[in-house]
Amino acid sequence: MTTDHGYPAVRMYIAGEWCQGGTGRTAPIVNPATEKVIGDVPLATPADLDRALAAADTGFRTWRGTSVADRTRILHTAADLLTERAAAVGRIMTQEQGKPLAEAAGEARRVADTLRWHIEDARRAYGRLIPSAPGTVLSVRREPVGPVAAFVPWNFPAGGPMRKISSALTAGCSIVIKASEETPATAAALVACFVDAGLPAGVLNLVFGEPAQVSAQLIASPVTRLIAFTGSVPVGKLLAAEAGRVMKPALMELGGHAPVIVCADADPAVAARRAAQAKFLNAGQVCTSPSRFIVHESLIDDFTAEFVTAAESVVVGDGLAEDTTMGPLANERRLTAMQRLTADAVARGAKVLTGGERLDRAGYFFVPTVLVDVPPDAEVMHEEPFGPLAPIVPFTDLDEALKTANGLPYGLAAYGFTRDAATAERLSAELEAGILSLNHCGGSVHEAPSGGVKESGYGREGGPEALDSYLVTKRVSHLLVP
Ligand code: NAD
Repeated sequence: MTTDHGYPAVRMYIAGEWCQGGTGRTAPIVNPATEKVIGDVPLATPADLDRALAAADTGFRTWRGTSVADRTRILHTAADLLTERAAAVGRIMTQEQGKPLAEAAGEARRVADTLRWHIEDARRAYGRLIPSAPGTVLSVRREPVGPVAAFVPWNFPAGGPMRKISSALTAGCSIVIKASEETPATAAALVACFVDAGLPAGVLNLVFGEPAQVSAQLIASPVTRLIAFTGSVPVGKLLAAEAGRVMKPALMELGGHAPVIVCADADPAVAARRAAQAKFLNAGQVCTSPSRFIVHESLIDDFTAEFVTAAESVVVGDGLAEDTTMGPLANERRLTAMQRLTADAVARGAKVLTGGERLDRAGYFFVPTVLVDVPPDAEVMHEEPFGPLAPIVPFTDLDEALKTANGLPYGLAAYGFTRDAATAERLSAELEAGILSLNHCGGSVHEAPSGGVKESGYGREGGPEALDSYLVTKRVSHLLVP
């Protein structure tokens, strides 16, 4: 069913049924490119959440008891449906989140491949037999942890949910997922692929609601065995504390403030072009987005000039328009944050070389912005901008650059540009980050682990490590002759 705007009506999916919330309460969904309401999202009541939990409890037993061959067939069918529907899912995503259509459809296609990768990886979740005494079989088994409660944000409306769903379902877990109330239709479209592929009722449940109320109830429930969260550091700390109170494991994919160190031997133009391309992707609303540019003083003028050129070549507009390369920010909070961070930096002496303001039209558009002469105490140097702001600062020696890079409590992504092998090794060893890219600023890939150190969280998504959080290890020692 679609509304007048060509945007689908959004429902929750609980216990094998698409449904509204018990009281019929909803929240508006806003297109960030127009500021117009395009739909509404149902909000779950405590009773709705109890139904979802009960369904996940039963769904877990059903799914754990389903053969791996049958699970694999259903999940591959879901991946194929998603590939078929990727263009349509992308169109939904652009309307509710803002990113350009090509980026959105690309994300939808990519998550189908993420699912495929995890399906095949989970088929090899082997345990082991350990040599032991005669008449004894000593084994280690890996079993699904149980029903998962997952919470995902709005910046990757397909990528965020799929990382949790694919790991949970391929491990043999059931899941109750609260996707973002700001980008709910993409999550619902993903869930529809699993439903249409024949996933048994209760295995996958999609809810929306008042975030703090939903998370408190799902985390405290005895049904839930794992908490999986992607979002901001403050909310992550809150949920980790709630999980700790009931002694539940948690997977925390939180924010960062990624440094980019451009060493004296790097090509400044190449570094600037690659870094700028990553910076303005998804309007900078990426947890691994490069966000502090620490450039050797001998290159800083050339680097900055090329970066400004790249920033000015970005075409800002409605993501539905074909020539747009950067859409609006996903919500008004991000626009306000860009204005606040820019004003603060300027008040402390920074110069805006390009951008620095919103577009004079409806929509949460903020022009790609380059800041120089940014003092260390400017908020943008220690608060994750999560938007199209690029502060560029100079350094003279690598010790100083590493100290600046590692000087924040976060450690998600970091980047380095150098042509010298010894310097590259030093960056690899000394940068405090869970994800390091040298001489490029490429994004996450499903075959390798992503995750943070320090306050950026714990646990990994992607790669064989992703399964670790969703499985528990059981030692079985079997004396054959009692
Ligand atoms: P926020 O901190 O309020 O929310 C972040 C996400 O957590 C949202 O999806 C929200 O619905 C959810 N959330 C909030 N409170 C919750 C609770 N008690 N229980 C469960 N979920 C809860 O802020 P925001 O304005 O949406 O985003 C602001 C900041 O969050 C950004 O600046 C960025 O630093 C961070 N963020 C990080 C990611 C990421 O991928 N790591 C994604 C989105 C936002």
